[in-house]
Amino acid sequence: MTKIYNFCAGPAMLPEAVMQQAQSEFCNWQGSGVSVMEVSHRSPEYVAMAKQAELDLRELMAIPDNYKVLFCHGGGRGQFAAVPFNLLGDKLDADYILTGQWSKSAVVEAKKHARIHETNIMRTTEDGKIGVKSSDDWNVNAGSAYVHYCPNETIEGIEIFDVPETGVVPLVADMSSTILSRPIDVSKFGVIYAGAQKNIGPSGLSIVIVRDDLIGHARQTIPSIFDYQVQTDFDSMYNTPPTYSWYLAGLVFKWLLAQGGIAAVEKNNIAKAELLYNAIDSSSFYSNNVDASVRSRMNIPFTLADDSLNETFLSESKAAGLVTLKGHKLVGGMRASIYNAMPIEGVQALVDFMAVFEKKYA
Ligand SMILES: *Cc1c(COP(=O)(O)O)cnc(C)c1O
Repeated sequence: MTKIYNFCAGPAMLPEAVMQQAQSEFCNWQGSGVSVMEVSHRSPEYVAMAKQAELDLRELMAIPDNYKVLFCHGGGRGQFAAVPFNLLGDKLDADYILTGQWSKSAVVEAKKHARIHETNIMRTTEDGKIGVKSSDDWNVNAGSAYVHYCPNETIEGIEIFDVPETGVVPLVADMSSTILSRPIDVSKFGVIYAGAQKNIGPSGLSIVIVRDDLIGHARQTIPSIFDYQVQTDFDSMYNTPPTYSWYLAGLVFKWLLAQGGIAAVEKNNIAKAELLYNAIDSSSFYSNNVDASVRSRMNIPFTLADDSLNETFLSESKAAGLVTLKGHKLVGGMRASIYNAMPIEGVQALVDFMAVFEKKYA
């Protein structure tokens, strides 16, 4: 059988070694004779595994002691609602920075709770590409409870690498599609959250990293499962957590540590992204319309010179073992999502295929 490389934006591929380990202990976890899915989340074995996953994540991201790590339900969109509930306190205002579809979706949810000040920082560069204005143009309102942004727009393939300065206003980041792909300085953020299904593990889980002083000010009407204080008090087990997703996330964290941690993972991610962007830029058949300074390393959209070849590209790439390359309907063309779990061999296989396809049809 042809080796399959899965470029899905999410749920995304998981590391092969992690899948194999999960398979080997699927029916018999830690010699218990039952699956990790079938044990109580209150059992000492499960609690120890869950705690270790948190410690491993803390090590990977160098999370300071004055931050809590919460393992929640509800994915990325759950946090679109949880953030305003938890952080507004008695304030009415929040700032949202717009860079693409996901930051816009976060606003739609937040508007139910707060007066939102939107700052669109997208711009068109001189050569007609999508760029992003410098964070000096953010105009954060001093009276806002927080400022929210999305450092990696999964759909457009736009990534902001610098962390903006927002003064005393806490910075909240939706890192769903960039978390663990490169080192970040957690201390610059008030809240970091991420749905798991891109770079952490299976869907159903979201990870929230929140600074202590931002916990405990939630509005009274907040559903308890979204309340950072409740989740903190119950070690993320107020209700039954997504136990299998938590377990698999723990295996992924161990795998990342074994790779040499996030600095080593970033090197690999840079090499993978360069390989693909170079292939696109050196061809007149493929193009990517994002300015080089903000090109995502995780999600790489590209178009063919002739859109009528899209279906042929998709069917021939699939036959070659390269699956889920169809671009998001809002952007069109193709999108290759190359999260941590994608080996460089997968990107090389894609680049090789693209060259053959271009020769054949250009
Ligand atoms: C996928 C994604 C989401 C949504 O995640 P769900 O778990 O489906 O709610 C939110 N933000 C970003 C940046 C994403 O990539």
